[in-house]
Amino acid sequence: MVHRIIFSNSKLCKWGLIESDKCDLCKEEVETVRHLFCECKVVKPFWENVRTWVNSQTGINIVMNISEMLLGTPQEIPPVIDLFYTVAKMYIYNCKFNKTQPQMKVFISRVMNIKNVHSSEEQCSRQT
Ligand SMILES: [Zn+2]
Repeated sequence: MVHRIIFSNSKLCKWGLIESDKCDLCKEEVETVRHLFCECKVVKPFWENVRTWVNSQTGINIVMNISEMLLGTPQEIPPVIDLFYTVAKMYIYNCKFNKTQPQMKVFISRVMNIKNVHSSEEQCSRQT
């Protein structure tokens, strides 16, 4: 549930904690959660690349609507897709704080790190 744990600049600005409510990524629009994760012109092409990459890796064609981006995928979608969404969202949030643009190679390396941890955990449990 992205909405409850993420503080967008529009909220922080309303509470007087920061001066500008502008998006940290595009610096143009007011940064709401919806803008940051779905509508930002910096984030949109990244999601498109994620979608293409996920399709090439899994053969699953994901339709990224706003509720799926924010809340996660419906139950009939394999959990791995939810993992990709979660990694992508965490990465976008990181980019916001670092004021950098999301890059596919960084996203892919993060996904691979998780995959590697998972397979080494499997190896450990096999050895015991
Ligand atoms: Zn933006």
